[in-house]
Amino acid sequence: MTATVAAQNACNLCGNEEVSVLATRSRSGAALRSVCCVRCGLAWSDPRPHNARAFYEDEYRVAYKQTAEPKPKHVLRAGRVAIDRAGKITALLNRPLRILDVGSGGGEFAYLLQTLGHAVTGVEPNRGYAGYSEREYGLAIQRGFIDQATLTEASFDLITIWHVLEHTESPHAVLTLLRHALRPDGRLVVEVPNLEATCQSPRSSFHEAHLFTFNPATLEAMGARAGLALQSLRVSADGGNLTAVFALSEPKPCAGIPGNHDRVSTIVGRHTALRHYLTAHPYQRLAARLARTVDESLALRAGGTGRALLDRLYRPLAGRLAPPAVAPNATLVATSRP
Ligand SMILES: [Zn+2]
Repeated sequence: MTATVAAQNACNLCGNEEVSVLATRSRSGAALRSVCCVRCGLAWSDPRPHNARAFYEDEYRVAYKQTAEPKPKHVLRAGRVAIDRAGKITALLNRPLRILDVGSGGGEFAYLLQTLGHAVTGVEPNRGYAGYSEREYGLAIQRGFIDQATLTEASFDLITIWHVLEHTESPHAVLTLLRHALRPDGRLVVEVPNLEATCQSPRSSFHEAHLFTFNPATLEAMGARAGLALQSLRVSADGGNLTAVFALSEPKPCAGIPGNHDRVSTIVGRHTALRHYLTAHPYQRLAARLARTVDESLALRAGGTGRALLDRLYRPLAGRLAPPAVAPNATLVATSRP
């Protein structure tokens, strides 16, 4: 029998207030109560650990990376992540698109798309990173949170929101906004950490920056509630991330997801430190980190600006990821239905 308590904030997916407690500490060891809705299995930090807006405008990058602007090391890492992300959605990048990248950060992914011939707009609340990406790559960035951005109704072929939804105060409100900015045949790509992941140390499962955590069922239902039908869902090889592609549909309220709370609490409950250190995950991560450090110092030796660094990194992709050239009289609105 699950012990339940009343949440301070109602469930953002089904509106329920009855939750169980998944954890009481964050990965930094500070007090952070992570709860799970007994009706649908959505997980969130309750009460909210910080003033989300002030935190992301100024403090976030400094708190996590000790810098207000990306350093070459960060640009290199983010550039590689950008290539990986583009690789996950190559099927959607088969023609020149109007793309919105929400939470564009230092601009590495938006710049990759721009390099490949797409028309990209970024939205980024962090002042240091937004300013850097405008200056360094000539990107069009709307500074602020997504609900402060000026988005024309039905104006984007593709919207991407990588590792941002879990940081927002209301994923439902954000998805609803993005739905309205999508063209009728558009696609929304959402990537979030997976609540069911066991590749990280159990101590690292919850942290202050993540206000919500999804598993496949709650991510799909969160989209459905906002009028977005799931087209595909991919779980990363290590189980750590969920990448969902959504298309427009009619909003479908969530009255609960049978069995999902028990599934989530069982997986989280079984993910103990002892079990974790008996798997290969921590050792693989350590080896990967060491290899990355050596590899980065070689890649950074050539020096130069962030732009020069990314140009070197992205050059080999031009032929592989760029959409085919479109004849002057061809339409740009042909769809790529899955
Ligand atoms: Zn719920």
